[in-house]
Amino acid sequence: MTKILIIYTGGTIGMVNDSLTGALIPFDFKQIRQNVPELARLNYQLDVHSFDPILDSSNMDPVIWAELAAIIERTYNDYDGFVVLHGSDTMAYTASALSFMLKNLSKPVVLTGSQLPIGEIRTDAKENLITALEIVATKKDGLAMVPEVCIYFDYQLFRGNRAIKYNSEKFEAFQSPNYHILAEAGVNLSFYSNYINPNPSDELQVQSRFNANIGVLKLYPGITPQAVQGITGSSVDAIVLETFGSGNTTTAQWFIDSLQDALDREKLIVDISQCQGGSVELGKYETSKQLQQMGIISGFDMTFEATVTKLMYLMGQDLSNTQIAFLMEQSLRGELTA
Ligand code: ASP
Repeated sequence: MTKILIIYTGGTIGMVNDSLTGALIPFDFKQIRQNVPELARLNYQLDVHSFDPILDSSNMDPVIWAELAAIIERTYNDYDGFVVLHGSDTMAYTASALSFMLKNLSKPVVLTGSQLPIGEIRTDAKENLITALEIVATKKDGLAMVPEVCIYFDYQLFRGNRAIKYNSEKFEAFQSPNYHILAEAGVNLSFYSNYINPNPSDELQVQSRFNANIGVLKLYPGITPQAVQGITGSSVDAIVLETFGSGNTTTAQWFIDSLQDALDREKLIVDISQCQGGSVELGKYETSKQLQQMGIISGFDMTFEATVTKLMYLMGQDLSNTQIAFLMEQSLRGELTA
């Protein structure tokens, strides 16, 4: 019998209205079970690990990501796969972080949640949960169909480190602008196997040390030297530079000097685009040629979520800046197309 571990971290899926304030607060897994009697009809052995406390995902952090990875590592041999119930707000960050932490993953880890609590009549939670379980259970030639960290939401399965939450109201809350979806649920579950990572032959390796000392600099026309130098002159170890179009920035000398000053003080700078679709192409325009010559790292078509978590992950390992810069531009878990 298929065995799946449901890891309940929290999120809207299990929330109820607080009787005093009316605000949505996380609630225990029991009421999820009560609201989805269909779980008993699935022919799987479902075990549940509930976080304590249960979280709104805005309170997620690298320590909790590491705890999640540790639960998966500890129970890895006991289950066919894992469904992680998680708030949608930071689900793409957790999915990205998990994808980096879990090297050589050969079992599905599917994150899901919902926009409406499971107790609401029009909830999207039931479908999300039930189909996430079916995806985890799906095998091909005895191996997991999707040996990846993914997000399942509103009939679509995304590679976790390619997904972004783009809508806070629609049931269709996620998109994957630079990568094909991995599966789609209609009358049938259709898997797009050409886009799914192959099953690894090596053993799972879990690496969960992070260095979160990162600054983010989002450019806009008219940005001042004070705003830029607030980040470039700070004590962060790395800067994510959110640039225009295919990786372009102003060529103003004060701006280039501020970046150079940060590089001289051994900070890593990664260029990703403010456009959600498409890729950074350093050197395509004059306004990015200099960045390339200075040694700024290209984030190619990575999401912001994947960039930040990948940097934290690589900076948490015992690697030199040159090694980190090299690996940032490589696809480690299918998070970028170079
Ligand atoms: N605030 C909630 C959370 O991320 C939203 C959700 O679950 O959709 O935990």
